Amino acid sequence: MTLKERVAIVTGGARGIGKAISQSLIQDGAHLVISDVNLGEAKQTADELATSGRRCLAVGADVTDGKGVAGMVDRAIREFGRIDILINNAGITRDGLLLRMKEEDWDLVLNVNLKGAFHCTKSVLPLMSKQRRGRIVNIASIVGVMGNAGQANYAASKAALIGFTKSVAREYAGRGITANAVAPGFIDTAMTQNLSSEVREGLMKQIPLGRLGTPQDIAHAVRFLVSEEAGYITGHVLHVNGGMLMV
Ligand code: NDP
Repeated sequence: MTLKERVAIVTGGARGIGKAISQSLIQDGAHLVISDVNLGEAKQTADELATSGRRCLAVGADVTDGKGVAGMVDRAIREFGRIDILINNAGITRDGLLLRMKEEDWDLVLNVNLKGAFHCTKSVLPLMSKQRRGRIVNIASIVGVMGNAGQANYAASKAALIGFTKSVAREYAGRGITANAVAPGFIDTAMTQNLSSEVREGLMKQIPLGRLGTPQDIAHAVRFLVSEEAGYITGHVLHVNGGMLMV
């Protein structure tokens, strides 16, 4: 219960990695805001995770919409009075080879994966600065470091998210706020479930630990980075990829 009375916002928290992170934070004692573009699923997840002594609030917000995000953060502040942890997890893919990639797919992926983190971070910083305490974790990707054929938009968004993380870390260290990134390898969620068995087998050969990651593998890393014990770590990219990339 190391996060007792802390308040956390998880974007894209309704399912997949975001849901596993939400579950882990609530188990550690935090009150939770599950923010997702899909309010119905967020409510379902909040009902599932709610446990005695901890509150779990579902809020519908599209991270690309600055006003909507500000409204979501205001709601969290009205409800809980503080925000200690922000997990920028909402993310999407719109894959395609560059020559065939539509401009709208480029823009959408950059808007959700990068601008979304900008809106959410900007909205929580005034209160975190006032509290002189905060933990921000951005969910990047191995692809943001290695690149990947067919994912130029996604790789660019995640590489930029890493640069964003380091800048926030430098700007807000003096206010007691840490900002770090977790870079997952290939994780078994809806995002990867439509990969063909051929692609999966090919991936498996590149992973020394011999399996795709689970959402819980990522949640464990996030749990560490938001803990008191991680107070001297900022601007770091924690790779959780089964050894697929060693940096
Ligand atoms: P999922 O697609 O399973 O879940 C993503 C969640 O984000 C969904 O609930 C989705 O809602 C929500 N979401 C999508 N767009 C928005 C938006 N505009 N505003 C708010 N919420 C939104 O993805 P994963 O759990 O696999 O991925 C989570 C994060 O981890 C992403 O940032 C992803 O890039 C990253 N990642 C994932 C990897 C993997 O292998 N799975 C590997 C590396 C990184 P809806 O259900 O309506 O779409």
